[in-house]
Amino acid sequence: MRDLFIAGRWVDGTSPAKVSRRAVINPCDGSELTTVSEAGPADVDAAVAAARRAFDTGPWRATQAAERGELLRGVAELLARNRETLARTESLDTGKTQAEGRIDVDDVAAVFRYYANLAAANAGRVVDTGNADVVSRIVYEPVGVCSLIAPWNYPLLQMSWKVAPALAAGNTMVIKPSEVTPLTTIELVRLTQEAGVPAGVVNLLLGGGANVGAPMVSHPDVDLVSFTGGLETGKKIMSMAADGVKRVALELGGKNPNVVFADADFDTAVDYALAAAFAHSGQVCSAGSRLIVQSEIHDDFVAELARRADLIRLGDGLDPATECGPLSSAEHREKVERHIAQAVEDGARLVVGGARPAEPELKDGFFLRPTVFADCDREMPIVQEEVFGPVVTVERFDTEAEAIRLANDTDYGLAGAVWTSDAGRAERVSGALRHGTVWINDFHPYLPQAEWGGFGKSGIGRELGPSGLDEYREAKHIYHNINPAPMRWFAGEETA
Ligand code: NAD
Repeated sequence: MRDLFIAGRWVDGTSPAKVSRRAVINPCDGSELTTVSEAGPADVDAAVAAARRAFDTGPWRATQAAERGELLRGVAELLARNRETLARTESLDTGKTQAEGRIDVDDVAAVFRYYANLAAANAGRVVDTGNADVVSRIVYEPVGVCSLIAPWNYPLLQMSWKVAPALAAGNTMVIKPSEVTPLTTIELVRLTQEAGVPAGVVNLLLGGGANVGAPMVSHPDVDLVSFTGGLETGKKIMSMAADGVKRVALELGGKNPNVVFADADFDTAVDYALAAAFAHSGQVCSAGSRLIVQSEIHDDFVAELARRADLIRLGDGLDPATECGPLSSAEHREKVERHIAQAVEDGARLVVGGARPAEPELKDGFFLRPTVFADCDREMPIVQEEVFGPVVTVERFDTEAEAIRLANDTDYGLAGAVWTSDAGRAERVSGALRHGTVWINDFHPYLPQAEWGGFGKSGIGRELGPSGLDEYREAKHIYHNINPAPMRWFAGEETA
């Protein structure tokens, strides 16, 4: 099966590794779903060259924004038409439930529609110079060849948040999904071709970070790198891109505070705290993995949270009765288990979970029970570090000032929430939080038209919203002197 897409053709990878195909594993039972090509250095060169050619000489860059908008609308329609297949594939590949897969596909289609409309909405602006002899204007142009690299937790969604605005702005691109979850990105590329995106504009590489991702970043013909993934990889990418002074956008991790005041509606806050922490087994960059609860309700809150966490039904993502799937891989589950063991050693109180499920039918999958730790404090690594698994820590606070201090006491700054029935407090606390998204009496929703991204070590730049398009455009100032005449700055000739 040829599953790299370079210069408008499906081709096999030419990886020099002994095994030139990589197994894709179903995390629900450890079985092999399929194998995919592994790209080699020659494929990276060919894909970048194809994107470069399509940018420098192809018709794409000169197409009208409205025309590109039509193509994006076409992709959105195809996504909607293929919703069930895509949601099923995403479930098989990531372990998330098919219902979550459907939500992802709907979101992705909405993002393509949003950028379809935005593409032609802002062609630039005229600058008021106060000089009738000058016409000055700002126009937007695509940045060039973009390397787009995505993680395994929301493969289709994270890649689409990059591909849609990059296309809308007129760029060409080389894209790489995580080696763990390549399947829906292959389908996305098929849909862009079916919608009529010209050859060379979207090129697809598959393979690992070191062998394929790194050369996509350091390649001299790449102008922009947009990466979603872990903090440590993000740092490497930033330093690799520095050499070519490339434009870099980074969407990294989070350790997201969920602050609950005693005046919040108790049942609703517990209900959302569960979803915040355990949706997709906590493998969500904005997971509410750090609960900060006011002392008056703390003990009752922890007890109810633990009771309900213990009832969460784990299982195969394709089974409609399943509420939570497995972790993405055996290695990732081991990493989360190491975090749990360390937390126990550090004195955090394990209230529930912390172990693999006992059901025999789940034994081959990479499952882990939803886990609640209480009596946590900021010094513990489990409170500081992104675990990216079904683990929530609970800290307690007394005053509003203390809640704000705790919630901001993190290296990250992706998202956070505040629960209260006091509107003034909601505004004060949300205003004080140093996080890219703050929810008041809610958790997790995001909108195509609202910026998404992090403060601090959660990243650089924004996806979604108008800023998500600006990441992929250069603003150019054109200054037109419509009545040129000698200015005699150097008048030496006349005065000599
Ligand atoms: P990761 O950093 O290991 O890998 C992400 C991608 O980068 C993969 O495609 C991988 O192959 C590639 N990669 C790895 N090393 C590379 C290198 N040296 N050069 C270039 N590419 C390289 O991350 P992951 O484990 O796949 O994903 C989980 C992480 O993603 C978590 O930290 C999570 O918080 C983060 N994430 C952030 C957001 C956000 O919006 N901020 C969204 C989703 C996930």
